[in-house]
Amino acid sequence: MPSAESQEPIIGIDLGTTHSLVAVCDGAGPRVLEGPSGERLLPSVIRYSQGLVSAVGSDARRRAAEFPRDTILSAKRWMGRSFAEAQALGSGFEFGIVEGPRGLAALHAGGATVLPQEVAALILAELRSWAERSLGRSVRKAVVTVPAYFDDGQRQATRDAARLAGLEAVRLVPEPTAAALAYGLGRRAQGETIAVYDFGGGTFDVSVLEVTPDDGSGTGAMFRVLATSGDTQLGGDDIDRMVFERLLGEAGLGSSNLAGAGLAPAARQALRDFAESTKIALSSKESAAVDVDLGGGVRLTRSVARSELEEIARPFVERTLELCRRALQDAGSPHLDRVVLVGGSTRMPMVRHEVARLFGVEPYTALDPDLVVALGAAVQGALLGGVRRDALLLDVIPLSLGIETVGGAVAKLLMRNSSIPAQAREMFSTSVDNQTAVRLHVVQGEREMAADCRSLARFELRNLPPMPAGIPQVEVDFTVDANGVLQVRAAERRSGQRASVQVVPTYGLTTEEVDRMERESLTHAREDMRRHRIVDLAVNAALDVKWIGDALERVREGLDAAVVDSVDQELHRVRGFIALTKTAPESVDANAFHQAKESLDRASVPVHEAAIAASLRAEQSRPQAVQSAQQESGGHTPRSDS
Ligand code: ADP
Ligand code: MG
Repeated sequence: MPSAESQEPIIGIDLGTTHSLVAVCDGAGPRVLEGPSGERLLPSVIRYSQGLVSAVGSDARRRAAEFPRDTILSAKRWMGRSFAEAQALGSGFEFGIVEGPRGLAALHAGGATVLPQEVAALILAELRSWAERSLGRSVRKAVVTVPAYFDDGQRQATRDAARLAGLEAVRLVPEPTAAALAYGLGRRAQGETIAVYDFGGGTFDVSVLEVTPDDGSGTGAMFRVLATSGDTQLGGDDIDRMVFERLLGEAGLGSSNLAGAGLAPAARQALRDFAESTKIALSSKESAAVDVDLGGGVRLTRSVARSELEEIARPFVERTLELCRRALQDAGSPHLDRVVLVGGSTRMPMVRHEVARLFGVEPYTALDPDLVVALGAAVQGALLGGVRRDALLLDVIPLSLGIETVGGAVAKLLMRNSSIPAQAREMFSTSVDNQTAVRLHVVQGEREMAADCRSLARFELRNLPPMPAGIPQVEVDFTVDANGVLQVRAAERRSGQRASVQVVPTYGLTTEEVDRMERESLTHAREDMRRHRIVDLAVNAALDVKWIGDALERVREGLDAAVVDSVDQELHRVRGFIALTKTAPESVDANAFHQAKESLDRASVPVHEAAIAASLRAEQSRPQAVQSAQQESGGHTPRSDS
């Protein structure tokens, strides 16, 4: 019998309104397959000229404005719809909608009249060729995703599209079900009720699903759609349009103004692109600069704050929340266990925050919201094809989880083989005075140095008030839930600042890799321990050297010359070890370093005493100094910036 791996793969395809993707799932779990130039998203756009296909994907997308009547966009909206329905929907594009066979809606562009499934077939065929190229074998079977609300006609049109592309659609999976599968929902013993919130560019969908776990009879987990709701004319594009309008108005070129109508098409397009890129930038920054030359001596320069964007976006986000409330009600107001986020617009912090508030649970964001549907389709393909990766689906953490500390060592918070769910918490601090940001690097593995582990995520805790090194209290919390999703939260206690990140640590991890990492940790155990010890010594010694050096400068005058001499010498020796740790760590003798540090501590006792006496005198004579306003960024205990 052939092994599952040697069988023909069943790929997973997210056939999207604006973008489509292809993924595959093997022993390492699901991954998105790339096109010939490394791209992962294929624009669902086709251009025709003289009745023939002249461009597919990104080329057709890029030049859509140039060939408005020849380019078909968003064909999915008309899949399996009657001409009458399509007329009622309207196109919103320049290509034509005409009556096709059996009263179906057909599309007319560049001299061609085609059914929407023929357009979809071209997209599917392109993705099939991406998959064959990257897998190096022929592909004939696929799991294709469809919106949860697709009716029989729309589903049949999707199957036809696959057949035309030379693919057998072995199963059509609702998009929200695919998103749930990507997170491994339905693998655990208990049933769950989940919501999938999908906020894309042009459409919004929300679904409430009931997940019944696999009962071991081999039928797999069951996903039942309890309710769906949405709006096919609501998305990130609406937010872009409002930002565009506002910028245009500010340049004195509002749409009510004659000059606005006269704005050159290229300048209009540039401003439109700016509106979107500003919105995207504001998902990770508090403010973004706009600087566009609109031609005719008009230049728009200003900065946009996140709060301003949020004010613009609020009505659209409110509308999605309203639709969510409706779906919840239709589903019988169940208790929700999880919320999964899908679609590019869910990267907006405001959306995440509002969704968390409405549903009362922290949403899943660990997987890229653009890729999650395709990843889930690939998981379904693997289940149907008998590909198994049980070894990593056990109820334990396969490799230890931790964060990188200053000097590159790893502080492990959750140990390998801990059973899940699992939680751990540890306190960290800064290593540089007045540090206002802390970088956190989440790693996985058994080695002692972060460079030898697998990097899972990086994030920053920002806006810390300046404090001396060691004073901030950064609480880092690791939680792995029953589905294996890791959430890392960092909070600074005094200021209340917080930040968090989510990842699925087993993504891209094979059993072979887990075995290799375990083996390597054994062979390197001695050397790793030594490295870790040296790094810890260097970090502590650096704090001592700084403190003693500063104190010595303050009290040098009042001390015995012999004492000053010996402290200077010891400082010099310890600084030498610290420098060597950075340049040639393998040549550091840990015991000698340790002794040098102890000897510095002993020699500096008179310095400590004199410094304490001096500070007592100073306190009596003048008010306490205020905190220096100077801010410095640099190393800190969780991770140095260097
Ligand atoms: P669709 O499913 O409709 O094809 P996508 O899921 O690809 O759409 O989402 C596209 C939308 O996501 C666009 O409006 C885009 O501007 C928006 N988007 C992408 N990245 C971000 C981001 N970082 N912040 C805010 N919006 C984003
Ligand atoms: Mg989408």
